[in-house]
Amino acid sequence: MRWRGRERSSNVEDRRGMSPKMAMGGGGGILAIIVVLIVKFMGGGAGMQQLAGNAARNLQDRAAQAPAGEGIDDDNREFVEVVLRDTETIWTKLFDEQIEGASYQEPRLELFTGQTQTACGPGQAAMGPFYCPADKKIYIDPTFFDDLAQRHNAEGDFAQAYVIAHEVAHHVQNLLAFNRPVNEARASGDKLLSNQMSVRLELQADFLAGVWAHHAHREYGILEDGDMEEAINAANQIGDDALMEAAGRRVDVHSFTHGSSAQRVRWFKRGLLSGNLGDCQQLFSLSFDRL
Ligand SMILES: [Zn+2]
Repeated sequence: MRWRGRERSSNVEDRRGMSPKMAMGGGGGILAIIVVLIVKFMGGGAGMQQLAGNAARNLQDRAAQAPAGEGIDDDNREFVEVVLRDTETIWTKLFDEQIEGASYQEPRLELFTGQTQTACGPGQAAMGPFYCPADKKIYIDPTFFDDLAQRHNAEGDFAQAYVIAHEVAHHVQNLLAFNRPVNEARASGDKLLSNQMSVRLELQADFLAGVWAHHAHREYGILEDGDMEEAINAANQIGDDALMEAAGRRVDVHSFTHGSSAQRVRWFKRGLLSGNLGDCQQLFSLSFDRL
């Protein structure tokens, strides 16, 4: 994939190396303000104020010394920012051209290490990249990309771009309320229906990732030889059946939540060929055994 030196998104928050508390927004600074306020309200004299000032400075120094991720401008960050920018320009254009009465709102994307706080609860690297609809944010621990290459045998930059595009697709679904039937099924407590709705939503995200790739290539010529194969291989390696087999579990179709490898490849390819956002509605109109 052609990505080096291209335009980058300004919506990436780099919180790698920060503890989850620090990642929530520099705990030191907030604590320092609280210390100063408490002393003021308690009517502390000049000496107390001085002490409070020192305490505040210490806390701020400690916050500054914490291994903040902000500013680590490495390949991972450049890559994520370029792919996110490509999704912003393409989805803005597709919303303008294909969706009446809605305009695209760019999501934020947080890079983190190990764990972080999200509006959807604690986020763990072990969950893989995910999207939280409550704060409209995508969360990625970039060590997942190594995992993708080594543990899931899905190497290559376009395999990574596909994963990011899939998470952005969940944001598109959220903006267009495509996730509503899934939430309703979950609320009903019907486990099988809930899993089936989840599979439809996930395959739709694969389709939308394909729609994005279609337009990004037309617009910017991002694809190089072998890129398509990388993304298709990634979709194939992270199907529910492939993951269950890799984990030594029995393949149980009823507990699928993302779709089989064959389905994920099929819908990604369909999106790629079609480039038409409206075609993604099929995912909720076709009978389940025809997906
Ligand atoms: Zn997903």
